[in-house]
Amino acid sequence: MMVAVLKPNATKEQIENLTEWLKGRGLSVHISKGEFYTILGLIGDTSQIDTELIEGLEMVESVKRISEPFKSANRKFHPEDSVIDVGGIKIGGPHFQMIAGPCSVESPEQILAIAKDVCAFGASILRGGAFKPRTSPYDFQGLRADGIEMMLEAKRQTGMPIITEIMNADHLPMFEKVDIIQVGARNMQNFELLKELGMLKKPVLLKRGLANTLQELLMSAEYIMAGGNQNVILCERGIRTFETYTRNTLDLSAVPMLRDLSHLPVVVDPSHASGIARLVEPMAMAAVAAGAHGVMIEVHNDPVNALCDGAQSLTPEQFSKTAGKIRKIREVVTA
Ligand code: PEP
Ligand code: MN
Repeated sequence: MMVAVLKPNATKEQIENLTEWLKGRGLSVHISKGEFYTILGLIGDTSQIDTELIEGLEMVESVKRISEPFKSANRKFHPEDSVIDVGGIKIGGPHFQMIAGPCSVESPEQILAIAKDVCAFGASILRGGAFKPRTSPYDFQGLRADGIEMMLEAKRQTGMPIITEIMNADHLPMFEKVDIIQVGARNMQNFELLKELGMLKKPVLLKRGLANTLQELLMSAEYIMAGGNQNVILCERGIRTFETYTRNTLDLSAVPMLRDLSHLPVVVDPSHASGIARLVEPMAMAAVAAGAHGVMIEVHNDPVNALCDGAQSLTPEQFSKTAGKIRKIREVVTA
């Protein structure tokens, strides 16, 4: 729904022309005439309407969207929480999951050892980066296709579904056996990639961009859903603010806000949000208390020598302790 306030000098003919144009776009138009102003109430699917275009018309004073521009992701049109099935493991609604693993896959031994540990300590989905979006081209870029193969081997041995990041739609054939495709913060608005993922049935974990609003995140989810893929998991991973002591600023209010606005599951990544291992446990607990359907935590068996993000990685032992606390907070949330 949208409301357009017309200028006092709008002529009858201008109002008629605009009304006809809007009706031609499938909207019903409710006209209310005051002493000075005329207000048009536009009812129907206004997601295709360019508000700036209407605002630019000479007889228009202002335009306001009353409803959100996202539809498939909108809770108003889908009141029940969505539950996403990842090879029998459910996330969303009453189902909570812990995703854990290293920032990057480094070797078959490394990913397998970490997979076994995090599985034993309560994680149900294994993470690991094979294609890494690094700020510097001189930093470790990931093991690419080999990394995915190593994750698949860890999956075979532990039974855990796997999640790994895609950076280019041309790589999709390599992701055929991957259980959840991750879209990283830097690609949240890579719309061509999102469209390609919309044509799949596979779950997609969509991370919020470093400087993106929640509405922009939901519009990106909408890109995937509009193509037919309803299996989208939203992920808050911290946003860039003026604060420098932490890598990013974890926007915890995103969790209840996204849950109000959307039926999609919401996961929090306290590792990238803080960048500091000792902050991961308190932030993970806070995320669960705020209503997250899952947490994604970086775990490494040798953080000091990790090829990427060692400073924010928990050891398996630390993860075990954190997982125990998360379970306790979860009990309080669901009580
Ligand atoms: C990651 O999860 O490995 C990652 C690169 O995260 P982000 O896209 O949130 O920076
Ligand atoms: Mn990382």
